[in-house]
Amino acid sequence: MIQVQRRKEPPPSLADQCRPFKEDVRHALNDDFFGKCYLCGGIASDSFDVEHLRPVCDFPGAEYSWQNLFPAHSRCNERRKRWSKEEREAQHKRWPRGGLLDCSSDDIDGRLKQEFITDATGAHARFQSSLTSDMPAANTANELNSIHSRDCFWGLQISILIGKRYSSVLTAYSRLSAAFQQAGRNWGDPSVLREQAALYSMLDKAAPYAGLMRNKMRTWLNPNWFQKLGL
Ligand SMILES: [Zn+2]
Repeated sequence: MIQVQRRKEPPPSLADQCRPFKEDVRHALNDDFFGKCYLCGGIASDSFDVEHLRPVCDFPGAEYSWQNLFPAHSRCNERRKRWSKEEREAQHKRWPRGGLLDCSSDDIDGRLKQEFITDATGAHARFQSSLTSDMPAANTANELNSIHSRDCFWGLQISILIGKRYSSVLTAYSRLSAAFQQAGRNWGDPSVLREQAALYSMLDKAAPYAGLMRNKMRTWLNPNWFQKLGL
């Protein structure tokens, strides 16, 4: 999951309050969320569903609220956690006590730990709240762990894609590293700049699984390099 900047003005057709949502809504979500599913961070492009962060059954007034609409794979949305009676807010069927993070307004990088390890079968992604007292972050981590669980076919597919993506990031990093050495450790060399741009594009917010990839790189990449990449 990664923080995005949602446009302030709602798409005009939302004022008509009609379903299915019109093309202007889909275009706006596609642009603002970089064509990605807000839950898993994978490419969704034209195939995403327009989903509600706050479920309509609990928040009927938010059905046509621009701030409540998010692009997601239908399978990711289906695998959002079902909260037990003890976990959810009183009188709400599907909304956890304390709520959830909103990736179009909350500090996702600061509040959510996003980690994974890789092996031959893909990635094992794990999400955690940065602070134990942060209930929205803990609830969001719970939902993301449910979506990424490799016990189900969909979670396994996502983990394979994340593993492949990390391999590509590592290849881009190796190319940058080699170019840097060959250029006598000169950051201004054209070949270094080219490889730097290639690696940056894989860690940019618009890239698939950018939240997971950035956090992974932070765990071992030299902080100076991280800064050089502009992340
Ligand atoms: Zn997804």
